[in-house]
Amino acid sequence: MDCRAYHDAFEHLVSLMTALDEFDIPDILSTLAELCKMLRISKGITYFYDNPEKEQHCMGESFVCYDSGEPHVIVSQVRQVTPIGNVIVSNAYQAAGADALTEQERYRLEMVQRMIVTNLNRSRQSRIVEQLKYWDEDGYTNLRYYFKQISDMKEAGRLKRKTAARINIKHFSLVNQQVGRSAGDMVLRRYISTVVTAMGPGALISRLGGDNFVLLFDTDKLAEVMRVLSGMSVKYDDDQRIEVSAVAGMYTISESDNVPHPGYIMERIITAYLAAKRENTNDVVFYTKKLEEERQRSLLVQKRYKIGISNEEFKVYYQPKVDIETKTVVGAEALCRWISDGELIPPAYFIPELERGLDICQLDFYMLDHVCWNIRGWLDEGMPVVPISVNISRRNLFSPDLFTHIMSIIDKYSIPHRLIEIELTETTTDVEFKDLKRLVGQLQRAGVATSVDDFGVGYSSLNLIKQIPWNVLKLDKSILPDDENDMEREIRLFGYIVSAAHEMGLKCIAEGVETEAQLDIMKQCGCRYVQGYVFDRPMPVSEFEKRLMIGNY
Ligand code: C2E
Ligand code: CA
Ligand code: CA
Repeated sequence: MDCRAYHDAFEHLVSLMTALDEFDIPDILSTLAELCKMLRISKGITYFYDNPEKEQHCMGESFVCYDSGEPHVIVSQVRQVTPIGNVIVSNAYQAAGADALTEQERYRLEMVQRMIVTNLNRSRQSRIVEQLKYWDEDGYTNLRYYFKQISDMKEAGRLKRKTAARINIKHFSLVNQQVGRSAGDMVLRRYISTVVTAMGPGALISRLGGDNFVLLFDTDKLAEVMRVLSGMSVKYDDDQRIEVSAVAGMYTISESDNVPHPGYIMERIITAYLAAKRENTNDVVFYTKKLEEERQRSLLVQKRYKIGISNEEFKVYYQPKVDIETKTVVGAEALCRWISDGELIPPAYFIPELERGLDICQLDFYMLDHVCWNIRGWLDEGMPVVPISVNISRRNLFSPDLFTHIMSIIDKYSIPHRLIEIELTETTTDVEFKDLKRLVGQLQRAGVATSVDDFGVGYSSLNLIKQIPWNVLKLDKSILPDDENDMEREIRLFGYIVSAAHEMGLKCIAEGVETEAQLDIMKQCGCRYVQGYVFDRPMPVSEFEKRLMIGNY
């Protein structure tokens, strides 16, 4: 045989099989075929068995390295058992009548076979490692797998018309409590497998951990997936069933969306998911531009709030309350404005964000403190002073020191209690209702007036109002008569609310009155106090002081 050619081929095989990246299978096969021909081998075949027992029962996989079509007798066998018990066997055959191998050729053949066996083992192990890399202990693929698949799909241009989702089983801890841990696991598996069926072929599902999963499926299947997510009954014992549903954030990849990286999809489904968790109106929320803006805003507020407060960037603006009979200023509401980097940020931008946590409580006391400081100044300068109302968010209600805290600020500046009014919104829960009732009672006894803010929005009821000793009802602008087609009826209804409130001993003030026409309606309905653009917008303290000095319109 041509020694030179043999050495070249063998060296090439070694370099292919010890390559650090993926095996070049076609090149390996053609090099093996070349070597087989040189060594007069008619067929080379390798077997892989998970363990010796499977080898005994011939239950394994086989790889044909070369086959001339005339194998006859085995001339060499190499068998290796790996440290974890896998068995790899390589057999080489010669055709009938072929020249027997020389001693040196036998040696060379064995070298080639050892090379194959060792490297098959290596590739097998890397497959196992690969599996460990992409699967969790319960057999679900993990986030790394999800990302890899998305990258591969993007490369192949197969990401269009797909929908991605991040889901969480709703109240899964309750499910576990109700059916027990192991039945809970079964419920989870069954529910998830229904999700998988709904997604159809070619879909992806990976587990983030616990009862959190990410999905990717054809948008065509959206309706079916939504149906499963919105709830289904899952069997867990012979005849026991439990209702399971999910909270989900979704993102539908549009035709023009070029998904720069898998994280891009992830960010979107998480943003939508967090919105779904937050708002308890919709369990499934789709990612939109608006959600993204909210997220940016939320990040910005979180980032800048602490600095803003310590730099005194939050300013008190005052909006006069007017007695429409005398056209005089009878009070004002303190409203917060955030001036950051010369830009005025309206409350709608940051208050809801601060109300998600407890930062709002700090801001409310900051506002009360600044208001009291202003009033102190006016009193000391002998200026005319009117009662100022301060908004206290419901988020403060849980605090047992709330009343003491409010009073300590008012008293720190020795403000006559009648000059402060506290605006609170109604509550929906029983616990909050009790806290609210106690607080209003305490303030009442201390001579601090209280008003029901935003009356008419949400769950307002006169009955609820009756049970708490409020002083003022602030009628929200959304209930002001404004329907041109049904004006008369709306005015009558509004008038009833005003007189019912008066009958209960409450003062009424209408918020958001913008036009002279609306002002006339207020007169007609007997609503004597108004706060709105028709008189003034909220204004900085210096301007408000001028208004106080004038005192009327
Ligand atoms: P709110 O307590 O209902 O305050 C009244 C809102 O109506 C103010 O909005 C005011 O500027 C606006 N408004 C007054 N007159 C008119 C009008 O004629 N037309 C229209 N379209 N709007 C009018 P603003 O200042 O943007 O405040 C929005 C909300 O932010 C407030 O609603 C209140 O819930 C909250 N907020 C503001 N400052 C504070 C604060 O210091 N603490 C707390 N907890 N909430 C605050
Ligand atoms: Ca208010
Ligand atoms: Ca209001």
